[in-house]
Amino acid sequence: MRASDTPVLRDIVLVGGGHSHAVLLRRWAMQPLPGVRLTLICRDTHTPYSGMLPAYIAGHYTHEQVHIDLRTLAQAAGARFFKAEVTGLDRGAQRVLCQGRPPVAYDWLSINIGATPGFGAAGASAHALPVKPIDRFNRRWLELLERVRGRPARWRLAVVGAGAGGVELLLAMQWRLRRELQALGRDPGAIEFSIYTDAPVILPTHNARVQRHFMDLLRQRGVLVHTGQAVTQVWAGCLQTQSGRVFDADEVIWVTQAVGAPWLRETGLALDAQGFIEVNDCLQSTADARVFAAGDVASRVGQPLAKAGVFAVRQAMPLLHNLRASVLGQPLKPYRAQQRWLALLGTGGAQAVASRGALSAHGGWVWRWKDWIDRRFMAQFTHLPLAMPAHAGTPLLPVSEAEREQALAASAMRCGGCGAKVGASVLGRVLARLPVSARDDVPIGLQQAQDAAVVRVPPGKALVQSVDFFRAFIDDPYVLGRIAANHALGDVWAMGADAQSALAIATVPPGLESRTEDVLTQMMTGAAEVLQAAGCALVGGHSAEGQELALGFAINGLIDQDLSTLLRKSGLRPGDALVLTKPVGTGCLLVAHQMLRARGHWIDAALDSMMQSSQQAAQCLREHGAHACTDVTGFGLLGHLLEMSRPSGVDVELDLAALPVFEGAIESAGAGHLSSAQPANAQVRTALRNLQAHAAHPKLPLLFDPQTAGGLLASVPAAQAAACVQALHAAGYLRAAVIGRVLPASADAAPAVLKA
Ligand SMILES: Cc1cc2nc3c(=O)[nH]c(=O)nc-3n(C[C@H](O)[C@H](O)[C@H](O)COP(=O)(O)OP(=O)(O)OC[C@H]3O[C@@H](n4cnc5c(N)ncnc54)[C@H](O)[C@@H]3O)c2cc1C
Repeated sequence: MRASDTPVLRDIVLVGGGHSHAVLLRRWAMQPLPGVRLTLICRDTHTPYSGMLPAYIAGHYTHEQVHIDLRTLAQAAGARFFKAEVTGLDRGAQRVLCQGRPPVAYDWLSINIGATPGFGAAGASAHALPVKPIDRFNRRWLELLERVRGRPARWRLAVVGAGAGGVELLLAMQWRLRRELQALGRDPGAIEFSIYTDAPVILPTHNARVQRHFMDLLRQRGVLVHTGQAVTQVWAGCLQTQSGRVFDADEVIWVTQAVGAPWLRETGLALDAQGFIEVNDCLQSTADARVFAAGDVASRVGQPLAKAGVFAVRQAMPLLHNLRASVLGQPLKPYRAQQRWLALLGTGGAQAVASRGALSAHGGWVWRWKDWIDRRFMAQFTHLPLAMPAHAGTPLLPVSEAEREQALAASAMRCGGCGAKVGASVLGRVLARLPVSARDDVPIGLQQAQDAAVVRVPPGKALVQSVDFFRAFIDDPYVLGRIAANHALGDVWAMGADAQSALAIATVPPGLESRTEDVLTQMMTGAAEVLQAAGCALVGGHSAEGQELALGFAINGLIDQDLSTLLRKSGLRPGDALVLTKPVGTGCLLVAHQMLRARGHWIDAALDSMMQSSQQAAQCLREHGAHACTDVTGFGLLGHLLEMSRPSGVDVELDLAALPVFEGAIESAGAGHLSSAQPANAQVRTALRNLQAHAAHPKLPLLFDPQTAGGLLASVPAAQAAACVQALHAAGYLRAAVIGRVLPASADAAPAVLKA
C-alpha cells in the first residue's frame, strides 16, 4: 500500500482483465498520471493469454506460463485490484455494480470483459461445456483428463464450432489425450473426436489453402468433421443436428460464435445484435462518452473486427491514450485496425500454420516462431518493476474550482487535533448507509447520533474488552474493512466471549470529499458486514485524516459473570494437543506482494483466510473442551505460544511438519521477504531448546511471522483433538491441524522443543 503525495482527483475504473487492460496496466506502470487513480475490477486474478491457450491444453506450457497475474500487475502499476464480478452499471451515478461488495465510483470507465458463449441449441447451456470462462473450462478439462485416465472405456468428445478456436482446441485436446493414453499403455485411438459447424467450411475467416490444410489434418487424425450441420439440441451423452441425426457424445465442448455478457443489456449502453458494446473509432461507447470498451466486448460501428486476442492487444495503446486524453480534456485519437492480420494456428504438436489474407505457410518453424512471439509477449508481465511514482505537485487535470480548492487544501499543511477530523457531513452520509445490528443491550448506538454510545451489560454477564488498529496493507478498502473487523474480533472469540458492540477508529488520507467518502464507505461497509454477521453492533467511532488509510476497533464482548466459560491463555495442560485453526505466513506473503514477488493466487488465499471469521472456530474449540486459547497475530506463532506456555508453567513441542502454512509462504520467507516486525518477533528464538538442529528448516522463519487476522491457537485434550480438527474442517477451517503438544515443565530454561 503506497501513500501518494497527490490527492486522488479522478478515477479510471477498468472492468475485466482482458488483453487490452493487461497491456494498458503495463504501460501505465511506466507513466502514471498524477491525481488519477486506476482500479482494475476482475473476477479472476489470473487471466489467460489466448495465443497460448490451445498449446497449454496440449500440454506444451504450464498454467503459470499462459496466465497473466493481474493482482501483481496492478500492484506494479500502482493500481488498485478488486477481485470481484461486475454485474451492472449505474451510469447516472457513475458507479460499477459488483457481486457481493459496494459499488465502485468512476469518472471514466473501460470495459474489457471478453465474450460469453452463445448457446444456440436447446440443452446446450446445461449439458455442453463452454470454453469461456476459461478457468471453469480449465477445471473441467483437468477433471476430464482424470476421468479419461481412470476409465479404460471408449470415449466420444464433440466440439461444436469450427472457427480457429474450435479447431485449435480440438487438435490440442486430441494431442494431449492421446499422449496420456499412450503413457498409460492404453489405445490412443480409444477416444473418438468430432467437430460440428453450421458453416459450409471449417475456419471460414481463413483462406482456402488454410482450410484445406486443416481439413486434411483432421481427416488424417481420424476426426469426424460435420460441416453445414448446426447442432440444435444437446442432452447428457448425445447431441442432435439440424438434419435430425443424433450423435453420441460423452463430452460436448462449445466454441461457437460468442455474445455479449447478459448484464450489458441492463446498462442502457448501445449494443449490437450480438449484445456487444457499440464503440466509435476511439473505442468510446456511442451512447456514453465516459465509457470505453476494447477487445471482444467492443463492436466498432461500421468496421466490425474478428473476435481475436490480437485486436484486444492492439487496442490497448489507443485505449490508454484516449482514457488519458479524456481525463486531461484533450482530443481523442482514432484507432486504425489492420485490414489483414497474421494468425498463427497450432496443430496440437510442435507444428503451426501461418495465415494472413491469401497467404499461408506451415511447419515446425512456424510453431517455433509462434512460440517465440508468445513467450516474448508474456515476458513483459513477469519480473515487473515497481511503478514509477506519480510526480507530486499541482495536477494538470481540468478540475472545477471547488475541486481545485479541496485538492490544494489536501496537499497543504494539515491541522492536528480536532482539525484533523473527517468532515461531519461525509461521516454522517457514510454511517447512514452502513448495515448495523440492533441490540436490546445497546440503547444508544450509531442511529441515535449522541456524543457517546450507551451499552448495557446484561444481568449475569461480564464485559470483555479489546482494541486493535492497523494501517492498510492492501489497496482494496472493502477487503481491508472486513479483515480489520475480523482481526479485532479475534481477541474476543479467543477468550470464549460473544461480541456485543464495537467502536471504530479510522484514518483516511486527505483528498476530495467525494473520494474520502468513497473510501470510507467501502472500508466501513466491509467492516460493518463482518460485525453484523457476528451480531456485534457498531455503536460509534471516530475518523480522522492521516497520511495512510488505517482502521481499528475497540470491541466489547460479553461472557458469563462467573467466568466459567472464559478461556485464558494460561490454561495449557500437559498432555493436551495444540490445535491451530488457520495456516501461518500472511506477513511474509504481504511483503512479497509489495515486492512484486508473490503470485496473485497466493495473496487471494491469504486474504480469504484473513476474511474468514474465527467465531465458529472458537465455538468448535469450546465444544471440544479447550483449556486455553489465543489468537495468533502480531507476535507470530511462537511469540503467542510462549505467552500461553509461560504463565501456564509448561513446556511445549511444536511439530514443524504438521504446521499449516500458506502456499508461497515458504518461498517468500526463503527469498528474504520478511516483515519489518520479524527481527523483534524472532528474539523469542532463544526459547527454542533445539534451535540448532532445525535452524535450516524452511518453516522456521514462519514461527516469527506476524499474522493479520490469524487463526486461533488452543490447547485441547488429546482425546478430543482429532474430533476437534475434523469439526473445524467441516466448519470451513480446511487447514486446521494439530501442530504440537503440551509437555510437563522441565528444568530447561528454553521451554519450547521443535519436531520435524
Ligand atoms: C480456444 C481458443 C483459442 C484462441 N486462440 C486465439 C489465438 O491464438 N489468437 C487470438 O488472437 N485469439 C484467439 N482466441 C480468441 C481470444 O481468446 C479472444 O478474442 C480474446 O480472449 C479476447 O480478449 P479480451 O481481451 O477481449 O477478453 P478476455 O481475454 O476474454 O478477458 C476477459 C477478462 O474479463 C474478466 N471478466 C469477464 N467478465 C467479467 C465480469 N463480469 N466482471 C469482472 N471481470 C470479468 C475475465 O475474468 C477475463 O479476465 C482464441 C479463443 C479460443 C476460445
